[in-house]
Amino acid sequence: MSETIYDCLIIGAGPAGLGAGLYAARGNLKTIILEKGIVGGQLQVTEDIENYPGMDHMTGPQVSDAMEAQTRRFGCEIVTNCGVTEVDLNAQPKIIKTNSGVTYKAKTVIVASGSEHRHLGVPGETEFAGKGVSYCAVCDGAFFKERNLVVVGGGSSAVEEGNFLTKYAKTVTLMHRRDELRAERILQERFKKNPKTEIIWDTVVEKINGDMLGVTSVTTKNLKTNEVKDFPCEGVFIYVGLDPNTQYLNGSVKLDGTGKVIANEKMETNVPGVFAAGDIRNTPLKQAITAASDGSLAATMAIAYVESLEDAVVSN
Ligand code: NAP
Repeated sequence: MSETIYDCLIIGAGPAGLGAGLYAARGNLKTIILEKGIVGGQLQVTEDIENYPGMDHMTGPQVSDAMEAQTRRFGCEIVTNCGVTEVDLNAQPKIIKTNSGVTYKAKTVIVASGSEHRHLGVPGETEFAGKGVSYCAVCDGAFFKERNLVVVGGGSSAVEEGNFLTKYAKTVTLMHRRDELRAERILQERFKKNPKTEIIWDTVVEKINGDMLGVTSVTTKNLKTNEVKDFPCEGVFIYVGLDPNTQYLNGSVKLDGTGKVIANEKMETNVPGVFAAGDIRNTPLKQAITAASDGSLAATMAIAYVESLEDAVVSN
C-alpha cells in the first residue's frame, strides 16, 4: 500500500484550523487537521459568542461543534490528542512528526496552532494552580460560588471573563498594572456597570498566598506609590495575554519579535507551501471570526499552491 501524502495538513483545530479545513476539503484537497488537544481551541473556553455574525449568543463549544461538523462533512479528517513535535517544512512533501508516533506527509501545511495563556510568573502561581489559581473562568468559575475573586490583566479576556465570574462570585476585583484598560470599550462598560466588580489600578500581583485549602490572598504592589499589601481572596484568574504555540516549528518559519509567525496578506510564510492562520500569526485582531477568515484564505492559497505543483509536473 502506498503511503498517504495529504494535499493539505493543518496544525490546530481552533476556528482558524477548522475554517482552513472546510475550505481546503471543499476545494477538493485531501485534507487532515492534527490537534494536540480537543477540537475548538479558545472557543472551548468561551462562554458567549456575541461578535460572530449569525452566531449570536451561542456558547463557544456550540460554535466549535457546528464548525467541526461542517468541516467533516466535506471529508476533512480531524485527529485529536495528536501534538506535532517536529517538522521538516522544506522537504517536498513536507514531513510532520507527532507525539502519537505517526509521521505525516503533506504538500502544503497550514500552521493554525493558536496560542496559550501566559503565566504571571510570581511565587505561588504554580503552587496554587488548580487550588485557586486558574486561567479559565468558563472551566473553573462554578467552583467559586460566593467567593471573593481577583482577576489579573486589563485586556478583553480579563474583563470579559471577570464579568462572567460574577455569575458565581461574591465579588470580582480586577487588578491592572496601568490606569487604563486595553479591553474593548463595550466589555469595559459592562464590567464597570456590574455591581459585583471593582478595579484596582496601577497595581501588580507580586505573590499568591494560601494554605492547605487553597488561595487566601494576593500580595499586591501599587506601582505609583510602591505600597505593598495583602488583598484577601479565594481565587485568582490570570489573563495577562497569550503566547503563540510555535515551539514545534523550531525556527523553520520566520517569527516576529513577539514570537508570532510572520505571514503576508495571503497568509504565506517565508517557506513556500507553508501558510499561517489565526492567533499564531502577526495580526492586529484576534477573534474567532478573523481566525476563521485567515483559515479560509490560507486554504485558498494552499489550493493554488497544490495546483502549481501539479502544473509543474505536467510541464516537465
Ligand atoms: P491582551 O490583549 O494582550 O491583554 C493582556 C493584558 O495583560 C494587558 O492589559 C496587559 O497590560 C496585561 N499584562 C501583560 N503582562 C502582564 C504582567 N506581567 N502583569 C500584569 N499585567 C500584565 O490579552 P487578552 O486579553 O488575552 O486578549 C488576547 C486577544 O484576544 C486580544 O487581541 C483581544 O482583543 C482578543 N479577545 C477578544 C475578545 C472579544 O472580542 N470578546 C475576548 C477576549 C480576547 P497592558 O495593557 O499594560 O499591556
